[in-house]
Amino acid sequence: MIRTHGLRYKYPAGPQLAFRDVELARGGVLLLQGRSGSGKSTWLSLVAGLLTPTQGDVEVAGQALAALSRGARDAWRARSVGFLPQKLHLSEALTVRANLALAFYAAGLPEDGARIDEVLARLGVGEVARRKPSQLSGGQAQRVALARSILMNPRVLLADEPTASLDDEAAAASLELLREVAQACGASLVVATHDVRVRNALADAVVYRLDATEPVAA
Ligand code: ADP
Ligand code: MG
Repeated sequence: MIRTHGLRYKYPAGPQLAFRDVELARGGVLLLQGRSGSGKSTWLSLVAGLLTPTQGDVEVAGQALAALSRGARDAWRARSVGFLPQKLHLSEALTVRANLALAFYAAGLPEDGARIDEVLARLGVGEVARRKPSQLSGGQAQRVALARSILMNPRVLLADEPTASLDDEAAAASLELLREVAQACGASLVVATHDVRVRNALADAVVYRLDATEPVAA
């Protein structure tokens, strides 16, 4: 479940952004649409607790983010939020397996190698566990990042432009996989995109057409 109320954000050197209220049911799918610069990535960061709103509240799976200290919020995010960023942020210094192990440290949990192997295999990339990220195709790297994001069975799964730079077939497969893994975790899924192809693949999603640079009625 995701609920936002009166959400505003201003980057130090950026425009004032204002977001319409959103309520997404547990297990629901939200398609966050809008042109480049409309505030999609910012909204995802606010919901993930990576940015603190200048006004308004976010509640995720019953947790009001404002009630958490920064440390508690980071620990909460590591356990409860699956984030598939546009830039995957896999460490080139580490193997795939070690990249995924970091998620356990962030969550304050002992590393569970069997869980890492299980999730990689489930996403069809079991054979790349010992490789470095530079030895992966784009599609494999995205699956590895998706595996990392669902290790803890998050309550929400947030994907930022997951189809950017994928051809039609790979884009459809990526969305299908996101939907599948979100369902398996019982997580709500948010896909932020300006890619019009996504609308067809997520035909049953709640659509939130975003332009945070437009004034919002109070
Ligand atoms: P989208 O993901 O829809 O392309 P963003 O959330 O990235 O939109 O950006 C929304 C607005 O905030 C844009 O006007 C962008 O220029 C601005 N913005 C984004 N990040 C920063 C930043 N770090 N500093 C200043 N302005 C930013
Ligand atoms: Mg963006």
